[in-house]
Amino acid sequence: MPVRNTILDLFPVELLAMIKEYIPQGQLMTHINFYLSFPPVTPSLYGNDEQQELFWEKACAQAGLGYRQRELNNMQQVSWRRVVWEEIVNHLECDHVECGQGLLQFVSDAMESQITIDLNDCTRTDFFSVIPDSPDKFSNGTIVNPVLGFIHFPDKLPGINVFQFFERDMYLYDPKKKVQDPARQLLDLHPIAARSWATFPPSRRVLLSGTYHNQPLVVENVFGVTVWDVHLTLQRMLEDELSAKQLQQLLDGNDYRSVFPPECDFLTLMGSLTTLRQFLTFYRIKEIEFVDWDVSGLHLCCNFEPIRKANPKTKGYIY
Ligand SMILES: [Zn+2]
Repeated sequence: MPVRNTILDLFPVELLAMIKEYIPQGQLMTHINFYLSFPPVTPSLYGNDEQQELFWEKACAQAGLGYRQRELNNMQQVSWRRVVWEEIVNHLECDHVECGQGLLQFVSDAMESQITIDLNDCTRTDFFSVIPDSPDKFSNGTIVNPVLGFIHFPDKLPGINVFQFFERDMYLYDPKKKVQDPARQLLDLHPIAARSWATFPPSRRVLLSGTYHNQPLVVENVFGVTVWDVHLTLQRMLEDELSAKQLQQLLDGNDYRSVFPPECDFLTLMGSLTTLRQFLTFYRIKEIEFVDWDVSGLHLCCNFEPIRKANPKTKGYIY
């Protein structure tokens, strides 16, 4: 009897092909591990180059990963096989509490649990003709991506006349760090977080409240609103001047006495908070929660928590 050295001596390739068919297409982590398990044969189980492209595209959509904004103008050029093997696999070990392999598994599971219709073999083009905008039609409700609770921005713009790419103005807040380092925590460097959909099931139109703009902020993406899209919409509002009324509403709703002690001078306080960016130097968005759905889109709301206390002894006109 010949010696059996590897699992391939025990399992015929046909059996591995059957096992592969039993793995839900959206369980990206399981497919990645399975693909890597038996190098001599697994690549052939996933087909030729063209078939693999299509497989990983479908798998990424069903696993809750969308396009990056810069790819939307040239979607035909996006290789989802490259996205999986260069971006996703290289980012599984990310040490942010809400990123890496943990987030990838969370979004895959959220897609699987929230969408009750069979998406197997559904292409990205067909996706939103199958998934209705009303989240409760074929789903179990709405789950908000937890990474939206770590959206943050640098305290200051780099200065007058210095052009700032918006990619360098959005980062993931890291609760493990006492001092944040935006340049090393850019959302752009976290492909799993940036690509993952903001909600599960995904939505093409999200309305964001809680910032006390006169109207909710509208976030749209015809291929599904991602974490990146939400970040970017807020980033574009950072320099908007806050009216006294908006400021009062923001402070009243957010325990301002824990940030601005009674000795803080009112005028200095007002001078310290003229924009959303300045407000976010004292508070962070600790979560974005689901509120409701109507024909205009999915309604979400930002909740804040203090991250810094004002110093009433600060010289000058700003805390
Ligand atoms: Zn990451």
